[in-house]
Amino acid sequence: MPFSLYLHIPYCLVKCPYCDFNAYGVRTWPEKDYVQALCAELRFYADREPWQGESVATIYFGGGTPSLFAPASIAQVLEAVSGCFTVLPSAEITLEADPASVTRETLAGFRAVGVNRLSFGVQSFQAKLLKTLGRLHTAEDGPRVLAWAREAGFTNLTMDLIFGVPGQTLALLADDLHQTCAAAPEHVSLYNLTYEEGTPFFRRKQQGKLRPIEEEEEIEMFSCIRETLQVQGYQHYEISNFARAGFASRHNANYWQGGDYLGLGAGAHSYARVPEWGRRWSNERKPQAYMRKAVTEGSALDCQEQLTYAQARGEFLFLRLRQLEGFVLATFSERFGVPLVEAFPHVSDFVVEGLLREDGGRLALTSKGLLMADSIFASFV
Ligand code: SF4
Repeated sequence: MPFSLYLHIPYCLVKCPYCDFNAYGVRTWPEKDYVQALCAELRFYADREPWQGESVATIYFGGGTPSLFAPASIAQVLEAVSGCFTVLPSAEITLEADPASVTRETLAGFRAVGVNRLSFGVQSFQAKLLKTLGRLHTAEDGPRVLAWAREAGFTNLTMDLIFGVPGQTLALLADDLHQTCAAAPEHVSLYNLTYEEGTPFFRRKQQGKLRPIEEEEEIEMFSCIRETLQVQGYQHYEISNFARAGFASRHNANYWQGGDYLGLGAGAHSYARVPEWGRRWSNERKPQAYMRKAVTEGSALDCQEQLTYAQARGEFLFLRLRQLEGFVLATFSERFGVPLVEAFPHVSDFVVEGLLREDGGRLALTSKGLLMADSIFASFV
């Protein structure tokens, strides 16, 4: 089965105060050295199991802000990928872009070097909320960069939005959704703002300087998002993701279906289904340490773990249940040698409570279950 390749670019123009990704706000970045490190890692894994001789189905430049890198640097990485692996002709090649860091020319450049999907971190169309979120771009930049991407020939665009931002009302959210639909991306991701430990937002919340919106209001917002986007022809196919027919993210679908993925770059994570119940590992998080190690040793491995039978069963469930179509129950017993109800008897209670639905041999979250997805998933791990 072809695998997915993730390339992490950890630099941003500023670090947003809510972000806990492995990203660093910088004024300049060592683009050439970083590209060299990615290429060294690619060569290292190309000769090793289980990647050797395999094909790449999706490539994803994530971050951080990959759009800070010049199209020529992205081209260099893509050439190295093609030199190390067979890239399927139909490969989905995504690059995350910050509206504050792109021009008409750079977008055309990314298209010319083979990127065929752009993911824009728009977050909101409201000046006030963008300011709260500490974003550099303006309310007008979102629609503008989408139009530039169309001019550049992109036919597969996705947009990230955040909801549950302090100061956001249902009316402001409705306006964001209205503007999203007007910009007409093929795919939309909507994330509920969270306050992660170690971030300025977490501290401000602790100090009472930032007041999160009420849970009931967040639930109302989520319902509004689902209704609006579905009426506009977007299918809600994963907890946070909506797409027009044929435009669901193939890269993320591979994660949710438990496929192999190779993550390169600072702090990137990888997963392989073999040996036994699977293995996952991650790279050095700090960009300098990552580059040093990748260039001198080929690999920049920081930690790794062999999954246990129990871990693999839990992960199988919560990854597949993220997708609203759920999964075929028989695939669980085929993989783990035991029926699901025997491994997790409390699944029957979830069905009785209307949180999960069993239908035609498939198990999936219900609309009610969607609102409690985190606690349902926690019960499996
Ligand atoms: S641009 Fe994205 S990755 Fe960078 S700091 Fe902001 S939220 Fe994090």
